[in-house]
Amino acid sequence: MTKQERYIHVLNYFETHVGLAETELAYNNPFELLVAVILSAQCTDKRVNLTTPKLFKDYPTAEAIAAASPETIFTYIRSISYPNNKAKHLVGMANMLVKDFNGIVPGNVEELVKMPGVGRKTANVIASVIYNKPTMAVDTHVFRVSNRIGLTTNAKNPLQSEKQLIKFIPEELVPKAHHWLILHGRYICLARKPKCDECPIKLYCKYFEKIILKQKKQTTVTLNINPKSYGKEKTSKKSGKKAG
Ligand code: SF4
Repeated sequence: MTKQERYIHVLNYFETHVGLAETELAYNNPFELLVAVILSAQCTDKRVNLTTPKLFKDYPTAEAIAAASPETIFTYIRSISYPNNKAKHLVGMANMLVKDFNGIVPGNVEELVKMPGVGRKTANVIASVIYNKPTMAVDTHVFRVSNRIGLTTNAKNPLQSEKQLIKFIPEELVPKAHHWLILHGRYICLARKPKCDECPIKLYCKYFEKIILKQKKQTTVTLNINPKSYGKEKTSKKSGKKAG
């Protein structure tokens, strides 16, 4: 199967059977999504969703967070991974947003990544989810799943993965494809033990191809063993001849 065919089959499957896929982070406006995505680094969406309602209630705008101290924000996000750094990032990001962008979340990746705590992945999520731009955010799920399926080849880091995916996925599908791959990685193609048996796209997956080929080889080796000659390959003591 060519790479192009693999893409067509996989995207076709997702489009037909999954369709609309959205972020699992809870938010009501672009600023809240930006905060939630920053908080979600190395943390589950579920945990972030448990944390943000109180934060957004008490600090509903960029201006409000900009005026707060990192120590105060820390008390709201202490149950999230790396709360110290993230509290500093949120206050720094909110300050820059107010001063340089009039409090409006920009839709441009180059501008987004200037803000504290906003890496390329976060910027791509905002550009894609809020502004529907064809940017591919590569998180740990997208990186792993794309590599296993064979949508990417020898991608050494998220940026390489992103570039390869963008090259093959039609622009209008990129925002959806990001979520499809995340959901697939979160629920089927698990990091430690992918659920290949129940995977609906296994027929188009390179990793699965390898498993099948390996199993076939093992079966062939087993079948090639002649039960009559098994164990007689050594010199027979009685005859002094080699068994054949
Ligand atoms: S077949 Fe297995 S490795 Fe391939 S996408 Fe499905 S779960 Fe992942």
